[in-house]
Amino acid sequence: MAEVYDLAIIGGGINGCGIARDAAGRGCSVYLCEQNDLGSGTSSASTKLIHGGLRYLEYYEFRLVREALQEREVLWRMAPHIIWPLRFVLPHLPGLRPSWFLRLGLFLYDHLGGRDRLPGTRGLDLRCDPAGQPLKPGFARAFEYSDCWVEDARLVALNAQDAAARGATIRTRTRFLTATRADGLWTVTVEDVRSGRRSTIRARALVNAAGPWVAAVLNQGVHAGVDARIRLVQGSHIVVPKLFDHDRCYIFQNADKRIVFAIPYERDFTLIGTTDRDYEGDPAAVHASEEEIAYLCAAAGEYFAKPVTPADVVWTYSGVRPLYDDGASTAQAATRDYVLAVDAPQDGPQDKQAALLSIFGGKITTYRRLADAAIAKLTPFLPKLGAAGSGWSSATTLPGGDFPVEGFDALVAGLRREFPFVAPAHMQRLARAYGTRVRTLLNGATRAEDLGRDFGATLTEAEVRYLMAEEWAETADDVLWRRSKLGLRLGREQAEALDAFMAEERARRMRASDAAE
Ligand SMILES: Cc1cc2nc3c(=O)[nH]c(=O)nc-3n(C[C@H](O)[C@H](O)[C@H](O)COP(=O)(O)OP(=O)(O)OC[C@H]3O[C@@H](n4cnc5c(N)ncnc54)[C@H](O)[C@@H]3O)c2cc1C
Repeated sequence: MAEVYDLAIIGGGINGCGIARDAAGRGCSVYLCEQNDLGSGTSSASTKLIHGGLRYLEYYEFRLVREALQEREVLWRMAPHIIWPLRFVLPHLPGLRPSWFLRLGLFLYDHLGGRDRLPGTRGLDLRCDPAGQPLKPGFARAFEYSDCWVEDARLVALNAQDAAARGATIRTRTRFLTATRADGLWTVTVEDVRSGRRSTIRARALVNAAGPWVAAVLNQGVHAGVDARIRLVQGSHIVVPKLFDHDRCYIFQNADKRIVFAIPYERDFTLIGTTDRDYEGDPAAVHASEEEIAYLCAAAGEYFAKPVTPADVVWTYSGVRPLYDDGASTAQAATRDYVLAVDAPQDGPQDKQAALLSIFGGKITTYRRLADAAIAKLTPFLPKLGAAGSGWSSATTLPGGDFPVEGFDALVAGLRREFPFVAPAHMQRLARAYGTRVRTLLNGATRAEDLGRDFGATLTEAEVRYLMAEEWAETADDVLWRRSKLGLRLGREQAEALDAFMAEERARRMRASDAAE
């Protein structure tokens, strides 16, 4: 008979993994399936901001903005290695939003709640501040305010890692096929996409956290009476060699009323995004179009003294926002808030009703609050969930984040003393990715040779093995574009050598696990 879990979750993006962590932390048995790699959907294609969303104030989304503002420092405390404060420079452009309007928005932003450590807004004179230096002459005034940066795909992996440490079963490369409800349980059929092998599990409740695929899962696999109100909105980013030398980010107002960010990225680059346009088709096939690339170059070119051209672009990425369809006229106006829909047969005791929870919308910033709200919705059906109470998830750090919130430099200095053979820039990168888990990764190494082969750009065999053993990495893409962004630095041959190594390593691990059974 197939194993019975309290909760089965479809989708290993930020929302699925966030719910898995929260539920496992409250003592539930959890099963999560992800058809590809963790975070391979929208959750690795964001602008990577933990932000209140200044522009959402224009759409009166006060509930969302307040919740998001409060989450900034909560998430920073939970994972100070992969989340850190960022200052945003908003130049004033005559003819667009008036200065009083920006000042009012930023006053609300500073005071809606949740700001303890992050510095507040200030005015800048761009004629003498270094932030004015890369801009065209003529920009005189700007505001500067705070939000945070997040390594989005790593946030997903760390939530999955923590969920697993609390007992959750995480299955990547495992596609959900169908679920049927009978006798108070879901029977869920999944397929291992590597082998084609099908298997079933049973669960007391089911969560559809399939992001842009939420409607496909409902229509093809579950056939429950849920109205799939989803609006798919594409957003693309471009990466160019760095355009400025300071560590602040720009938020540019565009003539079409949209805003575009230019963010310092991976030390040597600038990240520019994003776009907003309705999307149809397979979310997995989304890619930045030439038109979007030209739009982003032009938007940046309105502000930077040096033109930004499509020829400068070294990498692009694109994602599909799974927004709740609130009937807004334009893609940029569609709500960024989340909606949780519960479906359960209305007969018998609630804890025997096999509830289905579907998630529409949501931001990376609010994933923990969304998970908390999801658990509240499911508690009548799974009373065990309520027992631990809410809020535990904010009080517990994510893997590697157990050091003081403003103690990153001290962490790096300590690690450098323990592992003096690791070069400073290499250690800085490792500490940013793994925090205190660097010690597990380096696993008692006392000299550089102990870390094994170097695949390029300081990516060693020790790191790859750690990612395979602890973070479900299986291919070079998982390592180069989601667990890290070293794909920006490795050439094709180096990536192929990494892929070959990982394939061998996977086969070796499979043989070892077969022998153990
Ligand atoms: C361009 C852009 C910029 C953004 N910027 C920000 C930002 O700066 N800050 C912020 O807070 N938010 C931002 N967001 C929003 C945020 O990225 C998303 O709301 C969030 O990542 C959605 O997460 P998710 O878990 O719902 O979906 P996903 O990350 O897409 O996860 C769903 C997962 O389900 C899996 N799946 C689907 N079908 C199946 C199946 N049948 N079986 C198994 N698995 C399945 C998919 O493979 C996928 O991995 C941005 C979004 C976009 C597109």
